[in-house]
Amino acid sequence: MQLIAGNWKMHGRLASVAVIEALVAAGPIKGAQLLVCPPATLLAHFAAVVRGSHVRLGGQDCHPKTDGAFTGDISAAMLADAGASYVIVGHSERRLGHGELDPLVRAKAVAAQAAGLTPIVCVGETLAEREAGTTLAVVDRQLEGALPEAGPMVVAYEPVWAIGTGRTPTPAEVAEVHAFIASKVPERTAILYGGSVNPGNAAALLAVPHVSGALVGGASLAAADFLAIARAASAAAEVEAGS
Ligand code: PEP
Repeated sequence: MQLIAGNWKMHGRLASVAVIEALVAAGPIKGAQLLVCPPATLLAHFAAVVRGSHVRLGGQDCHPKTDGAFTGDISAAMLADAGASYVIVGHSERRLGHGELDPLVRAKAVAAQAAGLTPIVCVGETLAEREAGTTLAVVDRQLEGALPEAGPMVVAYEPVWAIGTGRTPTPAEVAEVHAFIASKVPERTAILYGGSVNPGNAAALLAVPHVSGALVGGASLAAADFLAIARAASAAAEVEAGS
């Protein structure tokens, strides 16, 4: 089963429920699990629509504590209460824009597990790090520092230079990093690729060994594009099952 996760970032209003309704109406896609991570303000609203369906919801970040004097923050327990079953942690927009480092990312992932959520822990190199040939070392350090010791988790490999840029690594480059991550994480941990995935490139990226789904930003905002990516995942899952 491939996990196709949409990261809506800071996009969406109550009316965006139309996208969720379209995903629900499309029905289950064999071999692909759909997950949407909207802004937290929309979770409860969307939860009422996806209840009993094949679509799952997630948060985009969480605080490591469950409650307290942390103005503006949202805990994993609150996300679970609002209908989430996953939460993204350590996204590069949090790491770079909010100065989040690996120990904090790990604390968030552990808090997510304690709240019954599956953390999606993001790792990935900057362009300078790739050009310096340090991609695997960077990813290794992030895995060592940010992953929980055990428990349910998903890893998302997201090269920072591929996010929102329209540029992607080659399938061979993705294969190298995913094989490396697979050698470092508990067996059967899902490893998503993220960074400019769209309906045109999804089939090639999702067919790469050790790619078990995608974390999709921009292309997750339109139901038709997101569903096209999920269908590409379904085809990739079928090929894998047959091999
Ligand atoms: C993301 O934000 O995690 C992401 C992969 O964005 P995009 O698909 O827009 O590159």
